[in-house]
Amino acid sequence: MDDSVRKFVDTLRTELHAEALVALEACLDCRQCGSACAWYLGTGDPALHPKHKTDFLRQAYRRSCNPLGWLRGGPALSEQRLREALPTFWKCTTCGRCTLACPLGLSNRSVIRLARAAFARSGLILETPALRQVFEGSRDQRHSFALSRDRIHLRMGFILHHAGIEIPFDVPRADFMYVGSAVGNTRFPDLDIAIPAMLNAAGMSYTISSRLTDTGTDIEHVVVDRELSRTMLLEVEAEALRLQVPTVVISECGCDVRTFYIEAAELLGRPLAVRVQAIDSLLLQLIGSGDLPVKRVPGRVTLHDPCKLTRLSGLGDLARELAGQVTGELVEMSPNRERNYCCNGGTGPLRMPENNDLRRHISRIKADQIRATGASRVVTPCAVCMLTLEDVCQTYGLAPPGGRGSFLLSELVYEGALAALDARGARDRIRMPALLREPKLAGGHSMAARIRQLANAPGFAADLAWLRADAVLHRYLRANPDAEPLFEAWTTELQRAGKSEGDA
Ligand code: SF4
Ligand code: SF4
Repeated sequence: MDDSVRKFVDTLRTELHAEALVALEACLDCRQCGSACAWYLGTGDPALHPKHKTDFLRQAYRRSCNPLGWLRGGPALSEQRLREALPTFWKCTTCGRCTLACPLGLSNRSVIRLARAAFARSGLILETPALRQVFEGSRDQRHSFALSRDRIHLRMGFILHHAGIEIPFDVPRADFMYVGSAVGNTRFPDLDIAIPAMLNAAGMSYTISSRLTDTGTDIEHVVVDRELSRTMLLEVEAEALRLQVPTVVISECGCDVRTFYIEAAELLGRPLAVRVQAIDSLLLQLIGSGDLPVKRVPGRVTLHDPCKLTRLSGLGDLARELAGQVTGELVEMSPNRERNYCCNGGTGPLRMPENNDLRRHISRIKADQIRATGASRVVTPCAVCMLTLEDVCQTYGLAPPGGRGSFLLSELVYEGALAALDARGARDRIRMPALLREPKLAGGHSMAARIRQLANAPGFAADLAWLRADAVLHRYLRANPDAEPLFEAWTTELQRAGKSEGDA
């Protein structure tokens, strides 16, 4: 038996759990699940039917794990068969919608996640560049897009410098530690302005960790590697304990919510040692207490339910309550909540260029849902959904030329907060975190201090060269023409500061 096939089968045996086992054994072959899956509905392709996708694993399981399975036949596994089957398991977002249509409530998503785990352990995912990046980046750099922590901080440092916003690093005994998502800090780091700005405006006692880049949950969803997932969770927990903060606040990411709210205890075999709160829950709390003033944002808005957040974690009401605080007119899509159609990009498909044409094709269903609301914007509490829906809006003419059609829910809250702060002449409140107003913390715990530290570290010249060539930074500079001269002045200053420190 090939080594890859042996590892694949071993993983099926060791990671098979009750939910997947029942879905493998009890399926009636009625094919009702196809009536709920956008990938099948949007193409009619039998190969994209949930039953067809899971059948490959059903046969593999029967041949290799069930003592009497060989009686039910099916060809033997080979590396070639695995290689041919692999792409199908990433033409799925593990959204769980098909379970709603199944008369037995079987979870195809758990079978697909088991298959992903087995493909990951077999090593065959390394032949797919996007999956390789998630696996190796998470393993070697603790970042699924394979960016170093220093580079992420450097880029974010400039963007926050341009926005005139400070953030606190490594402040012990703050009330909470905020941890963003990889897709947020990689694809749209300027979005991360809104959260610290609102936390600053509300006078919150919070900190960011200089040792973490993000929550790391891509490894649990895009590539299902439970060992690495545990490592990532433990690192977040350890950092909160080191800083003696009682709560970790996670950003708008459906996978983060699902992992930290639902899966963490199962992965660790115990509850996390710190409390976890989703940022939207905190924002709602701050609006309710009056610490974060908001005004309603004019225009008709519709809300997209992220599968991992609403269907699979039950936070649909929270998103609606928060949206209800800031929208002038909120219109529901049909269907919505647990029955909403997926964005079709999460847990892998958005990151895989080989899926682009198919993903856009099946997203006509999503585009029609959005169009029928007559809304000028779609908001969602998930960064991956937001990015995928932006692509849907561009593909199907739902966004104004050169503009955006899709937004994070927190962006809308930020718009409402800025309007309220402006009305009070209090916009400057967004700039400085409460903790950095304390003289003893101001010097050493700011983003400016973190950037000075980077400027004096070995490898800074290479990091700066990377930033100069970075496509995301260039997008930011194009969108903010006044940022370009500031960037030149900022980098010159940093080079000078780093050099003089080195000379000293
Ligand atoms: S989990 Fe979602 S994408 Fe995957 S087969 Fe089921 S309905 Fe389709
Ligand atoms: S609806 Fe349920 S029982 Fe029917 S084919 Fe799909 S998974 Fe099997």
